[in-house]
Amino acid sequence: MKIQEIEEEINQMKIHLSFLENRLKENQKNCDHHFLMNLSHEKCLKCNKVNVFHY
Ligand SMILES: [Zn+2]
Repeated sequence: MKIQEIEEEINQMKIHLSFLENRLKENQKNCDHHFLMNLSHEKCLKCNKVNVFHY
C-alpha cells in the first residue's frame, strides 16, 4: 500500500467518523434519557450518554 493511499483512507475514515459522531450526538439529543447513577458519573441506558460529575 502506498503512502498516498494510506493517507487517503485515513481521511475517508475521519470524514466517516465525524459523520457518525454527529449522528450519535443527534440521537443523544433526542433521547429521553434514563440515567443510571454511579459514583463519579451517570450513564444513559438508552443512548450511552455519560455525564461526569464535577465536585
Ligand atoms: Zn439517553
